[in-house]
Amino acid sequence: MELAGADQKLFQYLESGYEGEKIFDGWIEPAGDGLILNDLLFVTGGSHYQMDSLYIAPQKIYLFEVKNLSGDHSTEKEEWMSCATKSEIQNPILQLKRCESLLRRQLQILKCSLPVEAYVVFVNPEFHLYHAPLHSPLIFPSQWNRFSQRLKNVRLSNGFHSKLAEKLLSLHVEKSPYERRPEFKYEDLRKGIVCGGCGRLGMEVFSKTQLICERCRHMERYKNSILRSVEEFRLLFPEKKITSEQIHNWCGNIKNSRSIQKILKENFVKVGLARGNHYEEVK
Ligand SMILES: [Zn+2]
Repeated sequence: MELAGADQKLFQYLESGYEGEKIFDGWIEPAGDGLILNDLLFVTGGSHYQMDSLYIAPQKIYLFEVKNLSGDHSTEKEEWMSCATKSEIQNPILQLKRCESLLRRQLQILKCSLPVEAYVVFVNPEFHLYHAPLHSPLIFPSQWNRFSQRLKNVRLSNGFHSKLAEKLLSLHVEKSPYERRPEFKYEDLRKGIVCGGCGRLGMEVFSKTQLICERCRHMERYKNSILRSVEEFRLLFPEKKITSEQIHNWCGNIKNSRSIQKILKENFVKVGLARGNHYEEVK
């Protein structure tokens, strides 16, 4: 469906954040042998806070906030500005400090005395910050390689660190009260198969077993396309039942519901008798 203006903006913001986190994962994973915990949402003393990445090293915990900003920006005192739009953006250092202090409090509660070191990591090489203060917790793309040297050769000795990681993971809460999702109804969504290559709607029948994307010419096995569509359907409508008619409709009435029934049969367990049959995931 078409997203309303504010939702479209939010979507782009989330997408850019996600791309940034993927880049950061590619940086941090080979950097050292510490334990990496991603995307944690905690509540400490009634305050919610989200952390992009924690890196548990033997002597300390690194907290990384990942930013995928691009373009020229400038900072003066506590204000951050985009040079292109001349508009103020959120100061990532203030955001970082808030997370850092809440995390410290949480570690105290857990009786963990490891110190926390927190940084904002900029992953986009197209980002530039004028007047960046000299001693600031900011890491720019050109500095990552040198910074990551200090994460190398870590040896996590006993089970202390993995126990700590488990404890922290168990504190993760699933949903933020600030999370905003656009309202959607099944009837309002465009039906069809989303391309596994370019992510747009519009896979068409190419041969008996293959589909092709009308936009990017990506080819995919029919069966794989259907199974992915089932996953998308389940994510968006967890309360709806999976039937071959339902999935046939969801996939834009591609081919026929009989071929979909065959795929569902092979991959899911049939529940119920005769009319009103539906499929559930094989456990
Ligand atoms: Zn495509």
